[in-house]
Amino acid sequence: MDDIAGRRVLIVDDQAFIRALLRRCLVRLAVGEIREAENGADGLAELDTFKPELVLCDLNMPGMDGIEFLRLAATKAPQTPMLIVSGEDKRTLDGALRIARGYGLASVGAVAKPIEAERLTQAIARLQPSAEKSAAAARAMPRVGEADLAAAIERGQIAAVFQPKVDVANGQTRSVECLARWSHPMHGDVSPGIFVPLAENCGLVDRMTEAVVDAAARDMAPVFAAHPDLRCAVNFSFDTLGRSDAFAWISNALNRSGMPAERLIVEVTESRLGEDDRRTLETLARLRMKRVRVSLDDFGTGYASLARLEALPFDELKIDRGFVSGAAEAPAKRAILESAVALTKRMDLVSVAEGVETQSDLDTARAAGIDLAQGYLIARPMPADKLIAWLAR
Ligand code: C2E
Ligand code: CA
Ligand code: CA
Repeated sequence: MDDIAGRRVLIVDDQAFIRALLRRCLVRLAVGEIREAENGADGLAELDTFKPELVLCDLNMPGMDGIEFLRLAATKAPQTPMLIVSGEDKRTLDGALRIARGYGLASVGAVAKPIEAERLTQAIARLQPSAEKSAAAARAMPRVGEADLAAAIERGQIAAVFQPKVDVANGQTRSVECLARWSHPMHGDVSPGIFVPLAENCGLVDRMTEAVVDAAARDMAPVFAAHPDLRCAVNFSFDTLGRSDAFAWISNALNRSGMPAERLIVEVTESRLGEDDRRTLETLARLRMKRVRVSLDDFGTGYASLARLEALPFDELKIDRGFVSGAAEAPAKRAILESAVALTKRMDLVSVAEGVETQSDLDTARAAGIDLAQGYLIARPMPADKLIAWLAR
């Protein structure tokens, strides 16, 4: 939540001194009206009458506990941001958070007791803006369709931006990842989260990828000239790699665009299960003979599994940002991060931490023994001309 000044806030907690403490913190944040409920049932009634814009809620309460309260609150006010304030341990808090999201609450967070103004403020700031806002943003999002995308590809409106992957030992940039961008002349920027699945579902993904490879080769040419060891990663959908002519098709794309094979890293991304690992295996093996490197993207999520790692010849493993961002404060994430890095060492793979957003993310990844880091802390994706300046800094 960006700003809670002047907003209506409801506190649901059975202990009077906790309510008083929270009230004091909230007053300092200049919230508008504050109401207190000493049990879940009263809290639910306040949802109807007081219509709070933020709810702070305890977990462990006699009678209706916090979980039950959140379940019922989700049916009454699913859009209202709710913050769990509890003395339970981290695992219980995380579990409660997951449960609350499962109830359909649009925006929930948790903060551990003892209550400190600082932590409370941060937790409130981290709450997603209410889903009404996100829904409004989604409505504002153009309903781009197949024809728009086909036309954009035809007209060269698919552009490339590049995000560095940096060696944590010495800060050197080893490679950059190319990310597709679509700026629609009327609708503005369309997110890859929208147009990549669209391309995959309507058979446009290969043409889109060709457009991206072309853009990358063209934009990166001057960067390559200045940096002889730099590589460029391009995202390839699993479907593309499983096509019977994928190797020839990628070779052609490289020849036509002029990107040298030894500069390319193929990042294998899959948004759905690939049907035929055998064909993909063939494509990847042949690409590697051409000195193309192969990277398994989003490791640890969805279909980027251990089985896949065993079946296909990878050079690099990108650990999904879900296990990197915030790993310092989340023991389970951290354990997964450390195990994944250990795995890369055993398998002689380059490890990349995605989604390094804070210094503590970077420190944690480094302590785990990561090779490369990528994320907003280091650099946001940028156009190639900015990249030249960035690399020179
Ligand atoms: P991805 O391959 O996992 O790419 C990383 C995404 O995370 C990018 O989002 C990037 O901007 C974002 N990111 C980078 N650093 C951070 C960070 O520190 N924190 C957070 N929260 N995010 C960070 P983007 O550009 O929106 O791309 C989303 C996805 O779309 C990509 O995920 C990839 O799967 C897909 N995509 C993008 N370009 C292409 C493409 O040319 N071809 C294919 N097949 N897929 C693409
Ligand atoms: Ca990627
Ligand atoms: Ca990724």
